[in-house]
Amino acid sequence: MPSAPAARPLYLAAWACPRCTSGAVAVTARREDPTGHVHQTLRCGACGTWRALSLPRPLAERFDAALDADLAAMRRELERRPAPRRAPIAAR
Ligand SMILES: [Zn+2]
Repeated sequence: MPSAPAARPLYLAAWACPRCTSGAVAVTARREDPTGHVHQTLRCGACGTWRALSLPRPLAERFDAALDADLAAMRRELERRPAPRRAPIAAR
């Protein structure tokens, strides 16, 4: 019997695509307002859905920190892997 998925923190649950649940979502526009909210336009890289998301600034900052950590982990993984081999270019 599969275990129930772990509950996500609010700032990450709000991030996942509501259509396909993918976390492969990119910020395409971001604006902060004087009330302390961050308004973002998001696009899901998996299904292409566009949407608007508004979060209180503290939650948006926590999300930014999680995104930075994910990007740093991806960068470390790329640096760890050997460079891909390329086929020689044939002379004409
Ligand atoms: Zn999606």
